[in-house]
Amino acid sequence: MTDSTDNGTESADDQPTRTPPPAQPNYDNTFDAIVVGAGLAGSAAAITMANEDLDVLMIERGAYPGAKNVFGGVMYTPTIRDLVGMDGAPIERYVGQRRYAMLTEEDEIGATVNIGDWHEEPHNDSFTVLRGDFDEWLADQAVEAGATLITETTVTDLIRENGYIVGVETDRPEGALRAPIVVLAEGGNSLVSEGAGLKPAPDRKDVAVAVKEVIEFPGDSAQVIEDRFRLGDEDGAAYHYFGEGAAGKSFGGAFIYTNDDTVSVGLAYRIEDSITQGINPEKRLNEFKSHPAVAPLFKDARTVEYTAKTIPEGGAEAMPKLVHNGALLVGDTAGLVLNNGVHLEGTNMAVESGYHAGKAVVEAFNSIPATERTAGATAAGGQTARADGGMVIPSSHLQSYPDRLEESFVVKNLEHYEWLIHRVTEDKELLFEELPAALADAAAEYFAIDREPKQVHGARAKERVLGTLGGLRGLVKLGWRYRKIVR
Ligand SMILES: Cc1cc2nc3c(=O)[nH]c(=O)nc-3n(C[C@H](O)[C@H](O)[C@H](O)COP(=O)(O)OP(=O)(O)OC[C@H]3O[C@@H](n4cnc5c(N)ncnc54)[C@H](O)[C@@H]3O)c2cc1C
Repeated sequence: MTDSTDNGTESADDQPTRTPPPAQPNYDNTFDAIVVGAGLAGSAAAITMANEDLDVLMIERGAYPGAKNVFGGVMYTPTIRDLVGMDGAPIERYVGQRRYAMLTEEDEIGATVNIGDWHEEPHNDSFTVLRGDFDEWLADQAVEAGATLITETTVTDLIRENGYIVGVETDRPEGALRAPIVVLAEGGNSLVSEGAGLKPAPDRKDVAVAVKEVIEFPGDSAQVIEDRFRLGDEDGAAYHYFGEGAAGKSFGGAFIYTNDDTVSVGLAYRIEDSITQGINPEKRLNEFKSHPAVAPLFKDARTVEYTAKTIPEGGAEAMPKLVHNGALLVGDTAGLVLNNGVHLEGTNMAVESGYHAGKAVVEAFNSIPATERTAGATAAGGQTARADGGMVIPSSHLQSYPDRLEESFVVKNLEHYEWLIHRVTEDKELLFEELPAALADAAAEYFAIDREPKQVHGARAKERVLGTLGGLRGLVKLGWRYRKIVR
């Protein structure tokens, strides 16, 4: 599986360079920190460090930040709002409406949530965006704060001396760059961190495969979207589906997000299921789009982009060690994604972790007297750990990053839902296949119009659901198993 594919009109690789790299990047090795990857986590870290006058270099392999980034579509922005404000942010629509639905092969049972406050600023900090635009804008904020950005440059390895990470190797000629700190923000496909032994290769049970299409409609595409999804000019919809009609018999789900004049549609499910059940993601996505409850939304639609990517879903248990001598892991590289079927949130965790990592680096620098910053490894106890005599920063000086993250919503949310993910994995068949089918049958029975009394239909509907759950006892047991949801 490649990290990102694109068979649309414009592939990630041949998109134009929109933020020209500086003609003469600062190659004199005077950077305080190097950030690998100008995605959300990387830019948040760079902004935080540059705001405190650290000399930061961001290295991005794409033609511009976001060129290679794939996600479903809802950006959660509270930390971005605090860091740089949202003025000028390239937003497609705010999310004013959410829908959660179970799909059997033919039926849909769902609920729509449309909250008045979501239609007012700050719109519950939930916006559909296109990452090519948004990531470039966020990286621009880092550059405005004083960071240097070089694009079309891939970090190929880390430089290590005497047990300290002291820089990166890149695919540029003479591309070695040095700094006492390297922030690894390379996303979920973290080849550099894994290659350098900073984290293990992920267990396949902790990884989901995701595919996504961007769709447009003939004529006034924005108007078609507003009519079909019952939206105003600026509000958007986030639809989440699970059950057999969404991701087949696997642990996963499908999504539809409305952009300004396009729609993002995709699905994600465990790679393990993909392998053991031989599920082809592209075929599964087409089946989802053809589901009777979904197909009318896509009538006459045209696919303009197709992408695929993996999502780290191991939760708190699978989080690697976050700090090393001279390095920190943030965002997807650190496995910080919550996907429990109801919440698919990685963007807010990426930005939050970048912010806390940046703060920790600033604290580490502030703990070392300026006069000693280039005079050898003061922070390492006075030994010269770097061949060029430059400063190094031991992991103990970066400990405030994991500490801050533990205290933040990031680790709290991952830990809170750890149990849920285990339970859902154990109850996969019941929750994704048997229960949606039973609920659909029960609803059909309950709402049946014929010449039988409603009482009879009601009793049959109840029997259909209880029969699936193992009677009242089974229902109580299930309630007990999932009691923490309401805590
Ligand atoms: C299909 C899908 C749907 C999703 N939907 C949502 C959603 O709706 N809402 C949500 O909150 N989250 C969603 N997520 C999760 C979310 O996208 C991620 O959690 C988030 O993008 C992580 O940000 P990041 O900065 O850590 O990594 P990324 O966004 O992956 O950024 C990593 C950056 O590093 C660059 N890079 C990588 N390797 C190198 C290298 N060696 N050298 C230089 N540069 C490098 C990449 O080009 C990229 O720009 C979804 C994910 C997927 C795959």
